[in-house]
Amino acid sequence: MSLYDHTPCIHSFASFNYWFRAFDVRTTRIDSWPNASPSISSPHLNAMAEALKAIPNITRLSDCVFRILGQNPGRFSLQGTNTYLISPPESSGPVAVSGSDSDSSQEAIPSVLVDTGEGIDAYEPLLESVLLGKHESSKAKRFVTDIILTHWHNDHVGGLHAVLALLHRTRPPSVSPPRIHKFPHSTDANIEHKLASLDPSSAAFSPPPSSSKSLHTIQDARTIQLSDLLTEKITLKALHTPGHTSDHVCIFFEQEGRLFTGDHVLGQGTSVFEDLGAYMRSLQRCSKALEEPEAGVGGVGEVTLYPAHGPIIEEGKAMLAQYYSHRLERENQIIALLREPPPAALDEQAKGAGEEKAWSIKQVVAKLYASYPEHLWPAAARGIFLHMHRLAMLDPDAGTNGGELVSPRVKCLDTPDGLAPAIPEGNKAMHEWGKLMDHRWTLADASVAGQTGKL
Ligand SMILES: [Zn+2]
Repeated sequence: MSLYDHTPCIHSFASFNYWFRAFDVRTTRIDSWPNASPSISSPHLNAMAEALKAIPNITRLSDCVFRILGQNPGRFSLQGTNTYLISPPESSGPVAVSGSDSDSSQEAIPSVLVDTGEGIDAYEPLLESVLLGKHESSKAKRFVTDIILTHWHNDHVGGLHAVLALLHRTRPPSVSPPRIHKFPHSTDANIEHKLASLDPSSAAFSPPPSSSKSLHTIQDARTIQLSDLLTEKITLKALHTPGHTSDHVCIFFEQEGRLFTGDHVLGQGTSVFEDLGAYMRSLQRCSKALEEPEAGVGGVGEVTLYPAHGPIIEEGKAMLAQYYSHRLERENQIIALLREPPPAALDEQAKGAGEEKAWSIKQVVAKLYASYPEHLWPAAARGIFLHMHRLAMLDPDAGTNGGELVSPRVKCLDTPDGLAPAIPEGNKAMHEWGKLMDHRWTLADASVAGQTGKL
């Protein structure tokens, strides 16, 4: 879509706040966890506009990995959440366990579950069938020793309770309950609270030793401490990738050279984010990690990505680069637009804007997304604000690397210091987002140019 092909229509502005609020309500998910704060969730404009590719309920992706679909399709979760079961190969994986009859013994393969879906009833029998060796691709029995949560969103952690109950019911008696691993976040208290409410006699999970917490902490750039049964068979390395959420992690599966990307990179469309600056730094970081064999993560050749939504991505490095350049392209479009006088004021608020070349988010969206259906504009508005936020902040990397702080390229005329207002979060977010749509933005000076860059 080129920049200046379309003229915004007046009705769009008149109804914009209504649209934005309507969108915000639809995408605000009050988790089933107690006291959860609302979040704007999941995938994205392009995927909303394009047909979704079919994903089977259960897929054997490799010797070691099953993908099990969370049964929660929707406008924002696409085909639903992909959960993944990782096990050693059947030739080396099984260990002896005692069966439900205490005299019997059998073999089963210890496994790791990545994400738990949203808690939809239809998911449970699918996971159970794989664990019981009833899928056509494998007759081997499996049990889960470790659960990894990629981030706090409900379509990833909402199924935890039901999954723990299933694992408790199907686990061989001689096997310890699973550990739950997660990168720390402010909403972890909700998960902890829910886990604490479980009947202690059910022994549904294994908490970390000598800690009052239930969750095992995932540490950036470290190998996740899986059950002893899996040591040396499965190596999963965590990469903290904030942006989509501040607690997001991608997981590198060393034995097969695959990256589980959670919501950081999706199989269709592109991900949304809480903080674009952090998100772009995480894209760079992921890409760099996949290029560095000495870091024990990636190396030469392509890397397959296993996303939490949408089909697998065979050319992972190329996809990361594409995500990055797509964002820079959008940013450069915004900078080019800010060089132009904004369209004539179309409502009373815009008339008060004053500055000749100051644009509101509403005006930018109406111009850049003129060819998209209007019901997608509110989501676009949020994305444009996050771009403005990145452009109107000091570069945090420049400061931390000891270099000089790079001046913001855009200034906001409605904050005292010209820096971007804070990104709304929490219970006031809906109201705050509405107000931000009328803030006025302009280039910091005439010499500001777009950036080019490759991963
Ligand atoms: Zn998410």
